[in-house]
Amino acid sequence: MGVSQRVKNRFRRFLQRPGTTVDLAPLRKLLPQIEDRGSDLADLTDEELVEVAGGAKDFVEICAVGREAASRALGERPFDVQLLGAMSLLAGKVAEMATGEGKTLTAAVAAYGHVQQGNGPVHVLTINDYLARRDAQWMEPLYTRLGLTVGWVNESSTPEERRAAYACDVTYASVSEAGFDYLRDQLVTDIEDRVQPALSTAIVDEADSILIDEARVPMVLAGAVPGDQDPVHAAATLVKGLRPKRDYQVAEDGRSVQLTARGLATVEHRLGGVNLYADENTEQLSAVNVALHAHALLHRDVDYIVRNGAVELVDEMRGRVAQRRRWPDGLQAAVEAKEGLDATAEGEVLNTITVQAFIGRYRTVCGMTATAVHVGDQLREFFKLEVAVIPPNTPNVRADEPDRIYVSRAEKEEAMIAEIAKHHAAGRPVLIGTLDVKESESLALGLEAAGVPCVVLNAKNDEEEAAIIAEAGNHGAVTVSTQMAGRGVDIRLGGSDQADRERVAELGGLLVVGAGRHDSRRVDDQLRGRAGRQGDPGGSVFFVALEDNLVARHAADAVPASPKMRLEDGLVEDEQVDWAVEHAQRVAEGVNHEIHRNTWRYSVVIEQQRVALAERRERLLTTDVAGDLLRATYPDEMNEIDEETVNQAGRSIALYHLDRLWAEHLAEMSEVREGVHLRALGRLDPLDEFHRAAVPAFRKLVPEIEARTLATVEEIEELEDWTPEEAKLIRPSATWTYLVHDNPFGSELDRLIAAVGKRLTTEGR
Ligand code: ADP
Repeated sequence: MGVSQRVKNRFRRFLQRPGTTVDLAPLRKLLPQIEDRGSDLADLTDEELVEVAGGAKDFVEICAVGREAASRALGERPFDVQLLGAMSLLAGKVAEMATGEGKTLTAAVAAYGHVQQGNGPVHVLTINDYLARRDAQWMEPLYTRLGLTVGWVNESSTPEERRAAYACDVTYASVSEAGFDYLRDQLVTDIEDRVQPALSTAIVDEADSILIDEARVPMVLAGAVPGDQDPVHAAATLVKGLRPKRDYQVAEDGRSVQLTARGLATVEHRLGGVNLYADENTEQLSAVNVALHAHALLHRDVDYIVRNGAVELVDEMRGRVAQRRRWPDGLQAAVEAKEGLDATAEGEVLNTITVQAFIGRYRTVCGMTATAVHVGDQLREFFKLEVAVIPPNTPNVRADEPDRIYVSRAEKEEAMIAEIAKHHAAGRPVLIGTLDVKESESLALGLEAAGVPCVVLNAKNDEEEAAIIAEAGNHGAVTVSTQMAGRGVDIRLGGSDQADRERVAELGGLLVVGAGRHDSRRVDDQLRGRAGRQGDPGGSVFFVALEDNLVARHAADAVPASPKMRLEDGLVEDEQVDWAVEHAQRVAEGVNHEIHRNTWRYSVVIEQQRVALAERRERLLTTDVAGDLLRATYPDEMNEIDEETVNQAGRSIALYHLDRLWAEHLAEMSEVREGVHLRALGRLDPLDEFHRAAVPAFRKLVPEIEARTLATVEEIEELEDWTPEEAKLIRPSATWTYLVHDNPFGSELDRLIAAVGKRLTTEGR
């Protein structure tokens, strides 16, 4: 195998690269000039360098100054490839740079450049709070040498801290914090309350993760609604104790479930002998369905974990806990009820924006990631972004072995443990990437039984995780983690201080073992990329079982009935099977792309409406038109009241109605959207139908805001001591933010239809 397999792999990857990528030749030509300019800069004092930094405008000057400042501030002189990366970011591209190539420093040089080119302020958007703080603090000395200010925002930052952070030239924030701040700023009634200046430039870290995997995720700002009803919570007791097969049937794909006749009878009996399928009980039926899905299909420690009395979702893409996320359509409450927890409030949606639309609000967007090429088409389709592939500073010598495929999961696990034990015996560090938390735990037990001690990372907290991952390259270390744990953290051979580097390098460096192929090749590549950083020795191998979800769901038909395998250990050696596994992954990727495209089509409509209304809101907030309305209505009272009080009163009335109507519109649109799927059965194009409802509903919005504002204005009795409270213009006293997780089973109505449809056909009822 050895070399020839490596060459084959490389060739395969080359062929798989879709589309075109940015030509680096014009940027490369600048490198000698940057080098030359650099030698002049070396003679400057620190003060002189700051001065020169403030005047840099073109790529050459920016890179030369950035390099000199980094050498002085961090003791790291950016490599040519990092400057190619920085220039790609300045040119508004997504730079693909392998793990460990130093993207943090690259982004800082680019952020400086964007400020110099008049594109500031710059937001560096990260995947989590931990990385936002780490990178801002890490790069601060560099920014200081360049005469720039830098700040960071975390979930716990106060409004004052946020305002200060965003006032810097460069601000590091997780994409969700930046998005939530944007949403909150959209609802202020006093311009002074804003924390974020107008969005200008975003440098997106882990760009594939944020721009593709997270793109569809709606960020939500919610407020308390009095008298929130929760029918789902009650339904949880109705399905308690129901058993599979006897009371309900789970579909093969694990995505739908329905009551058997016996289960139905039990539930109907618990409800006091109603007919659940009678017209008047649709709502109850739907609640029972949601509860049943939560009961039968969502599994603790796979789909969610329970911690500190709360349900925390596990993100399938990352195989880790996704903070502040909720399932939609009552599912969240249903799972909370199932676990015997108090339901947390979903609240009324006051405003919402998808990650993709939020990124679209920036005038300039660029990004970096280790794996961009495979989503090049999507980056072009959704963001008009091109990918620039930056070569590694030192050639990559990681040995990627072909997949080891087994029929059953048990065989796979056994083989995997044997392989890990073999390398561990020699002292070679092994990092194992699993698909979910449960798999991590079962593997850890297996390893322990085989006498291999290991550390398990199960999605607890980013900072602890980072510290553990950083030591995964230690001699003899065995680390089990879900695929994406500790992303953005460097694994150095011989430990974070590299004390044992030589010994570990001689053993072949870090070995990455994949416990299964992920739905996306990119995620597999990211896992592989943990080994072999900056020319280090390293290896990777994936173990696959034909029983794995990916294969079973997407390529069951393509797997031959009796694949060829090695007799002694059951290793499948069959080209048809190799093909089927690759095929399964391509199908899964295609499905995800299609879902992304489809959801985007809906969000585009709402987003256009949101923008149109936001423009009007901005005018109300920043001008005196609402005050003028009051002045025109009550001319006689104007002498006694100062102008700004009148303006404030006018604004608070108009903005109240605008915000209220927008929240109502959002609620209506989400109902329409669910209903549209119902109509889709009648073969009308659901998107057309959605437009048909959304457009006129929005058109009514503006006249309605006007009418309600006028009505409130006319009802004012005593303008001088008027308060919003007396007019019952009460804004939610508390707001909170969350991200909406994909409904794992499709929309609620889809499920309802499926359940009703099946019953009708199977029992003729
Ligand atoms: P990435 O995000 O691309 O995986 P990081 O930004 O975490 O990589 O950097 C990886 C490591 O490389 C860090 O320890 C950093 O200090 C180091 N590094 C980056 N650039 C340089 C450089 N020009 N010279 C020396 N070390 C560097």
